[in-house]
Amino acid sequence: MAETFKIIPLIPVTAKPAQAYNELDVPRDHGQFVADTLQRPMRDLRISVTDRCNLRCTYCMPREAFDENHSFLPRAELLSFEEIERLAKLFIRLGVQKIRLTGGEPLLRRGIERLVESLARLQTKAGQPVEVALTTNAVLLSKKALSLKDAGLSRITASLDGLSEETFRRMSDSNVPVKTVLDGIAAAQHAGLAPVKVNMVVKRGVNDHEIIPMAGHFRNSGIVLRFIEYMDVGCTNGWRMDDVVAAREILEQVASRYPLRQVDPNYMGEVAERWCYADGGGEIGVIASVTQAFCHECTRARLSTDGKLYTCLFGSSGADLRAPLRMGSNDRILTNLIAGHWGQRGDRYSQIRHAATEIPREKIEMSYIGG
Ligand code: SAM
Ligand code: SF4
Ligand code: SF4
Repeated sequence: MAETFKIIPLIPVTAKPAQAYNELDVPRDHGQFVADTLQRPMRDLRISVTDRCNLRCTYCMPREAFDENHSFLPRAELLSFEEIERLAKLFIRLGVQKIRLTGGEPLLRRGIERLVESLARLQTKAGQPVEVALTTNAVLLSKKALSLKDAGLSRITASLDGLSEETFRRMSDSNVPVKTVLDGIAAAQHAGLAPVKVNMVVKRGVNDHEIIPMAGHFRNSGIVLRFIEYMDVGCTNGWRMDDVVAAREILEQVASRYPLRQVDPNYMGEVAERWCYADGGGEIGVIASVTQAFCHECTRARLSTDGKLYTCLFGSSGADLRAPLRMGSNDRILTNLIAGHWGQRGDRYSQIRHAATEIPREKIEMSYIGG
């Protein structure tokens, strides 16, 4: 049956006393799917569970900006697991089917398995279990893979930008051995979190010489390697278009060594374009967020570490859900805040990037908003 999408009337999202929120005249029927101004439903929720990280990838948290003087959020500012679970239930009522825990580095958040367990118990509006996934740099994954699986995690994506120690060090600005990450990925596979995906951000002149070695390494392993175009998220990574290696170029490189064949998407709106090795050696993906924007089918909402709702990775401001939550607002009010914010969404940054980058603009950092 075709789903109906309904925009719930907008109500203000600025902080108010709880009583004011609860007295707002909002419709009782808040259990609807919502669509934004471009008719995009809300299907995925990315939750940043911490803004901290044990790596300093130059394209995400460059050490110059994220050094000992950087103010990470104090503990009291973070949403608690109970608060996350409560908000997640409301997002699900509005159509969310998949939740991804991210950050920062989500495995740094103590007791993350407890959160996974509570989210994995939730059901979509159609009565299906909500899919709970997690993106990690895999540094702590060897220790955590089994307990995450036991807690009900559906899928895991690990990030790895090169196989040689030198490349990995240059990209992650850390002394963590590559083997630690590879062991983490292997542990996830053994724990049954298959198919494990591995994200590789490609930066021209830094790690593009590792495209073929990475493809060779993960071929025939059951792991899906995904090449990601380097994006201009945040304001600290000094992004330049010249540093981007386009997905087409990446595919050409891989195909020159290992012939490829394109595969249909798994579902509508899948961000990675899927390709298979012609000899049956498995699958790879490319995420062309810069050169082939997919804003028209973007169904992702993001909840920042301190409980702000962002409707685009390149957003500059979010709707505060934590203040009304902590002031005792009821579910109806919170649901309408979320729906109202989504209902007025018109984001399509990647489609208008060139115009947008000419205008200086504050963009939120990925580690805080959730990558
Ligand atoms: N720390 C975890 C990790 O690295 O997997 C989760 C958070 S990280 C922000 C999520 C994903 O965003 C990673 O796969 C990372 O490579 C990717 N990412 C971060 N900055 C990026 C950028 N400027 N361009 C493209 N991808 C980026
Ligand atoms: Fe940390 Fe992930 Fe960002 Fe690298 S990409 S700095 S691992 S949050
Ligand atoms: Fe979605 Fe914003 Fe990325 Fe476009 S730029 S795909 S709207 S997150």
